[in-house]
Amino acid sequence: MAGATLEETGMAPHQPRSASDPRPGNQPFYISPGCHTCGTALVLSDRLDHPDAAESKIWHDEWECPVCRDGIYLDWPEGALLSLQRNGR
Ligand SMILES: [Zn+2]
Repeated sequence: MAGATLEETGMAPHQPRSASDPRPGNQPFYISPGCHTCGTALVLSDRLDHPDAAESKIWHDEWECPVCRDGIYLDWPEGALLSLQRNGR
């Protein structure tokens, strides 16, 4: 079966279920909301790069430190990426 989704990982209904679900409180849901290096609050990567992007075009699972700009933090539940990789072939 191709196309495993987050729903198949057995998360509670109130949790964001996909990359296009806005996160509650406008901060990462699954990961630490601060930069691992400097502690600055992470912001949506698309908001940094495309401040005028429409809400529907934003990926809500890609976060970035506006100070370090040292890469993307993926807001995914622990184990979900692994599980998707295993089931996705
Ligand atoms: Zn930082």
